[in-house]
Amino acid sequence: MDGTPVYDIFVIGGGINGCGIARDAVGRGYSVFLAEMNDLASGTSSGSTKLIHGGLRYLEFYEFRLVREALMEREVLWRNAPHIIWPMRFVLPFFAGGPRPAWMLRLGLFLYDHIGGRKLLPATKTLDMRSDPAGKPLKPLFSKAFEYSDGWVNDARLVVLNARDAADRGAIIRTRTKVVAARREGNLWVVTVEDLRDRKTETVRAKLLVNAAGPWVDHVLAKTIGKNDVHNVRLVQGSHIVVRKKFDDPRAYFFQNKDGRIIFAIPYEEEFTLIGTTDRDYSDDPHHVTISEGEIDYLCAAASEYFADPVTRADIVWTYSAVRPLFDDGASKAQEATRDYVLKAEGGEGVAPLVNAFGGKITTYRRLAESMLEKIEGFLGKRGEPWTAKGTLPGGDFPATGYDAEVAKLKTSYPFLETRMARRLVRLYGTRARSLLGLAKSTADLGQDFGADLYEAEVRYLVENEWARTAEDILWRRTKRGLHFDREQTAQLEAFLRRISGPHIAAAE
Ligand SMILES: Cc1cc2nc3c(=O)[nH]c(=O)nc-3n(C[C@H](O)[C@H](O)[C@H](O)COP(=O)(O)OP(=O)(O)OC[C@H]3O[C@@H](n4cnc5c(N)ncnc54)[C@H](O)[C@@H]3O)c2cc1C
Repeated sequence: MDGTPVYDIFVIGGGINGCGIARDAVGRGYSVFLAEMNDLASGTSSGSTKLIHGGLRYLEFYEFRLVREALMEREVLWRNAPHIIWPMRFVLPFFAGGPRPAWMLRLGLFLYDHIGGRKLLPATKTLDMRSDPAGKPLKPLFSKAFEYSDGWVNDARLVVLNARDAADRGAIIRTRTKVVAARREGNLWVVTVEDLRDRKTETVRAKLLVNAAGPWVDHVLAKTIGKNDVHNVRLVQGSHIVVRKKFDDPRAYFFQNKDGRIIFAIPYEEEFTLIGTTDRDYSDDPHHVTISEGEIDYLCAAASEYFADPVTRADIVWTYSAVRPLFDDGASKAQEATRDYVLKAEGGEGVAPLVNAFGGKITTYRRLAESMLEKIEGFLGKRGEPWTAKGTLPGGDFPATGYDAEVAKLKTSYPFLETRMARRLVRLYGTRARSLLGLAKSTADLGQDFGADLYEAEVRYLVENEWARTAEDILWRRTKRGLHFDREQTAQLEAFLRRISGPHIAAAE
C-alpha cells in the first residue's frame, strides 16, 4: 500500500455538493478523489424543482442570510453556465383574503429586488390578470399578480459539468463506487471503496475526508465511519408530476395554496408542465423514494384549483421524487425546517480531519463549496484563492444572454441540424456541442438513431465524457429524452450501451 498516492481530500458523494467541492478544491491546487456509489446526480440533485432562486417563502422564516446569498448566486451561476441556467419570470397571483396579504408579498419582493445584487435580471412588476396573457389559462379567481425574476437550472447537468471540470483539472471522479468503510490511521484516512460493477474493493488514502452524502450523510457517519448516536439531518420527501403542457406562456406560476403551502407550475422541456412540490417527512432508504398516491392527488387537486382546465391523473407523463437532507434544527413542520447549510468539522492535531456537509440548496452549492474550502484550508493550509465565481463551467463559455446566437452559430457550422435539435444540443452542451458533432456533415454521420433525436454520437459522447453507463443515466439525467422514449427504444439503447461499456451495473444498496 505504501506506493499508492495519498490524496489531500477524499469526497464521499457525487451530488451537487460533492462535485462542487471537488471542483473548487482541485482548482485551488489540492489533489482530490471523489467516489459516487451510483450515477452522478442520482440522489437528490436530479430531483429538485430546478430553481436557482432566493426562496421567497424562506423570508417568512426569517432566513435572510440564506435568501441574500441565494439571490446573489442567481446571476453568478447564470454567467458561469448560460447553457443550463437561464432567467425565468414567475407569476404570483393573489387576491384579498388570500393566504398572505398583498403588502407582505410586496415587501418580500422588494427585498428580493434590492438585496440580491440584481444587474441583468428584470425587476418585479404588477400584472392585471384580466388583461395579461398570464391570466388566460387560469380560472377567473385573480385580478392581480406580481411578476418577479428567478432562475431555472438543469440540476443533473449542473452536477455533471462540475464533475467534468473537476476531472479536467485533475480530480479523480469514480462513479458506481461505494465507500464501504473509512477509518483513521493517525493523521490519514484509509478509505475502502467497492466498485459496484465487479464488486472489487480497494483502499485509498487521504489527508482529509469530506462527507457530502446528502440524505445518506448520517448513514455514512454511522455505518461507514462508525459513529454512535448520529442525528443531524431530517429527511423530507418532495415529489413532482410532469403533465402535457397546460399553458403556452414562457412564465412559471407560483400558487399559494389554502393550506399555506405553495406549488409551482413551470414550463418544462418544451412540451410539458412541471408541477411540484410536496413536503413530507421520510424515514426509508432515500434510494427507494417514489411519489405516493396521496401526493399525486394533492398535486392534481392543488393545480386544478387554479387552472381552468383541471389537472388529472390522465395528464401525467412522468413523476419524480427526491429526499431533502435538511439540517435538523428541531422545527416542527417539514416546510419550516431550515434550508440553509451547516458544515461541521472534527479532527486536526494528529487526528485525520473530517468535514460533514448538512443541508443546502442547488442554488447555494458554489458558496457551500467555498465555505468548505475555508474549513479545508484550516486543516491543510491555503493553496489558492476562491475562483469559481468567475469560473465558467464546460460549454458555458458564451455570454449570459447569448443562447440564441450560439444556436445560430451551431446551425451555420452544421446546416443539416434541425432548429429543434440545435436548440436542444446548445441547452445541454453549450459550446461543447461541437465536440459531440465532430466532423458530421449529415445526420447519417451521427450513427445509430435511437429515436427522439438521440443518435449514437451523443450517446458515445456521454459515455466517454460524462460517466454515463446505463439508459437511465442518459434518458433521465444527462438528457430528458426519456420523456419521449418507449420501452422498445429504451431496450435498444440499453443493449447498445452494454455492447460498448461492458456488463450490467448493480445499484448500491
Ligand atoms: C423536492 C425537492 C425540490 C428541491 N428544489 C430545489 C430548488 O428548486 N432549488 C434549489 O436550489 N434546491 C432545491 N432542492 C434542494 C437540492 O436539491 C439539494 O439540497 C441538493 O441537491 C443536495 O445535494 P447533495 O449533493 O447534498 O445530495 P445528493 O444529490 O443526494 O448527493 C449525495 C450523493 O452521495 C452519494 N452517496 C451516499 N452514500 C455514499 C457512499 N457510501 N459512497 C459513495 N457515494 C455515496 C449518493 O449516491 C448521492 O448521489 C430541492 C430538493 C428536493 C428534494
